[in-house]
Amino acid sequence: MERRYFDWAAAAPPETAVSTLLEMEVPFGNPSSKHTEGRRARKALEDARQRCAAVLEVPAERLYFTSCGTESNALVLHSLLVRQKRYSGGAALPALLYSAVEHPSIRENALLLERLGFPVFCAGVEGDGRVSERSLSRIIAKQGKPRLTAIMAVNNETGAVMDMPKLTKFLRNIDGPPIHIHSDLVQAVGKIPLDIQRWDLDSASFSAHKLGGPRGIGLLYLRKPLEPIYTGGGQEGGVRPGTENTRGALALAECLERRAHPAVVAETYALAVERWKLLISALTSMERCRLIPVEREAEDPRFSPFILQAAFHGIPGEVMVRSLDDAGFAVSTGSACSSGAKTRPVLAAMGLDDTLSFEGFRISQGWSTGVEDIEALIEAIGKILREL
Ligand code: PLP
Repeated sequence: MERRYFDWAAAAPPETAVSTLLEMEVPFGNPSSKHTEGRRARKALEDARQRCAAVLEVPAERLYFTSCGTESNALVLHSLLVRQKRYSGGAALPALLYSAVEHPSIRENALLLERLGFPVFCAGVEGDGRVSERSLSRIIAKQGKPRLTAIMAVNNETGAVMDMPKLTKFLRNIDGPPIHIHSDLVQAVGKIPLDIQRWDLDSASFSAHKLGGPRGIGLLYLRKPLEPIYTGGGQEGGVRPGTENTRGALALAECLERRAHPAVVAETYALAVERWKLLISALTSMERCRLIPVEREAEDPRFSPFILQAAFHGIPGEVMVRSLDDAGFAVSTGSACSSGAKTRPVLAAMGLDDTLSFEGFRISQGWSTGVEDIEALIEAIGKILREL
């Protein structure tokens, strides 16, 4: 049976050019070795870093290769642990503020810090799933100014796009010690126009496998180096010690060049909107269908046209996922990292009740999704509704 893939937010299908590159010979030496093989590997790694930097328009020395988006996020959050020593002797521990719709790689690490005694606060979102100045000011008025904030740019379950320039401006204008502003850009890169400098971010996370690249390689942008939570051989400026993944770094550079150039993003975005128009208009004409949030439209810049959350009244999301899988379509509930979870924190934060939350399922598309895939999906959903 032909398979049609609508779970790009969990993992993008591998790009042929990147897979070819992965099979090619890359310098195998350890980039830290001083001999010719080592120097060749170092050159390849630094070339990869330069290429990533050129696409992301940041200085190459501000980029650190990691193993994945999760590690990039965790390195930033847990840097608070190392800062802690500076706050010993009576000074208050630094506070972390994260949004209620963050990916588990932020949320769970924030909760871990809370268990370790750090002041950790969660900012709510509006009904559309977006963090607002209002939600930030409400929590900051109550809990005080944080030292670190984590607000993602594009939500992986609903596609909500945060107004990062507005939010960072708001945070920068609060009196008191400076805030480190971190943003998880895993679902944003290659999907919406990015501007790390203009968004005034102190750090940002990326992952190759959402861009058609391999697992095991991520990237962290840091405006200033941070103290690592673990040490080792000092690789990646000591921020992420461990022998570097040269092959992965080259693959990530290739993915960014292929998918994250502004002109490519603009074109991919426009095509995605056209396909989403088709899907959204078909879904909203189906009985029992509710989009999450309900006002969702394809051309609305508040939402990424690559991710859509929908629900059918009386049909659990899990049932839709299984029925569509049987029919040859890959969709999902929530994020792959929390599949099987008993709660849907992102949807709950938007004010959805449990029943609706558990009816929700995610459809996500990418650059190679075709209009015919959307048409086939619409037909399959219609058939499932008639049969169930
Ligand atoms: N952040 C977001 C928004 C994600 O969607 C994901 C993966 O689903 C991650 C972080 C984690 O990335 P990785 O799978 O590379 O650890």
